[in-house]
Amino acid sequence: MQVALSEAGVRCVAWITEKAEGPFSCPGCSGEVILKKGKIKEHHYAHKPPFDCLYGAKESEIHYRCKREIFQALSSHPNCSECEIEKPLDGARPDVYAVISSNKVAIEAQKTSISINDIERRSSYYKWLGINVLWLIPHNSPKLIWRDGQEEWVHRLKSWEKYLHAIYYGRVYYWNGGLSVLPCHFGNFQIWVKESEWYDEDDEYRQEGGYYSNARTLKKPIMYPGGPLNIAEDFAPKARSRFDSKNWSVPECNIWFDSLSPWW
Ligand SMILES: [Zn+2]
Repeated sequence: MQVALSEAGVRCVAWITEKAEGPFSCPGCSGEVILKKGKIKEHHYAHKPPFDCLYGAKESEIHYRCKREIFQALSSHPNCSECEIEKPLDGARPDVYAVISSNKVAIEAQKTSISINDIERRSSYYKWLGINVLWLIPHNSPKLIWRDGQEEWVHRLKSWEKYLHAIYYGRVYYWNGGLSVLPCHFGNFQIWVKESEWYDEDDEYRQEGGYYSNARTLKKPIMYPGGPLNIAEDFAPKARSRFDSKNWSVPECNIWFDSLSPWW
């Protein structure tokens, strides 16, 4: 967590707070938290052990940095007001919240531990609150693997990435520092299905393969060629209607969306 409460109940943002202003407590469980102000790592609070609270759990260094940089950049951007980090809303806590050009926006930097249910629940809850949501991936590119046979770099799409890709009409947003994000579409990647032939249990001749087929999880990343977009300048609200697929459903929600035509 990057915000804790002082004894007087004041919200203290880690990087502008000094240890002497403590003790501090967790906004989730009210247990004591320690302000960590190292020289290398992002400033944050950690529960004093022993503790049994999931508030602020599993936040990585890049997640901290992503939240801080977005918050700082939005706070000084002329289009933005009411900027808050880890804003306490009844039932949700966006990483960064701001009013951008008169639109309420919740920015969520996705954590690796998030489930599709969680994304669905929070997205529809933000709609109920009249807030547009922007889900970001706090890395500046997809993790690629080399496909030897085809000599190509591909990305193995995780289920939550597939889900975000569906919500945002065929793109995800990689965070590129400050307010800069890189839109990326995941295109189909074809794999060669080897030809094989055999006789089945009824002694019938069977043959399969010998063609290309779309891989299920391996995808070809196609970054937007026009370069990065700015969260405060290149996005606008868009009502996302419900969409059901075989395995999951995208809820009705209001997304914070770019205005690009498909580039793939
Ligand atoms: Zn706690």
